[in-house]
Amino acid sequence: MTETLAENTVASVHYTGTLPGSGEVFDTSEGRDPLTFLVGHKQMIPGFEEEMMGAKVGERRTFTLEPERAYGQRMEDAVQQIERSQFGDIEPEVGMMLMSDIGPFTVTEVADDLVTVDFNHKLAGETLEFSVEVVELRAASEEELAHGHAHGPGGHHH
Ligand code: ZN
Repeated sequence: MTETLAENTVASVHYTGTLPGSGEVFDTSEGRDPLTFLVGHKQMIPGFEEEMMGAKVGERRTFTLEPERAYGQRMEDAVQQIERSQFGDIEPEVGMMLMSDIGPFTVTEVADDLVTVDFNHKLAGETLEFSVEVVELRAASEEELAHGHAHGPGGHHH
């Protein structure tokens, strides 16, 4: 029996994330299944788990995370210019999100020959506010611990 959110438990939570400045909701599980994750295996941003440690089922917590405990600071060298020809058949447009060998990026500027892209996470450099309610807690299975993620409804499937 798992009483509180702790390392190696599988937690299901409902959450809403807002930007404190504008009040804009950047992500929420409202109207969807709760988010299920294996605690202590880097499935979540670090501050999210730290703030929820010890929470019981039905408990709601509200907390604010500085960028260091969320998606990190923006890195200027993650903004790069790429020859347009490298995009091949893809017609780059501002705001487009694409995948590369080294991770996802966003097109931020398109010129005749050069395309500016940004590898920063869109929430890098942002302070984030969360309201989180624990819906369910259970012990992780051996398979989940071996894989490093939660299985089953709301979790990761193979
Ligand atoms: Zn798995």
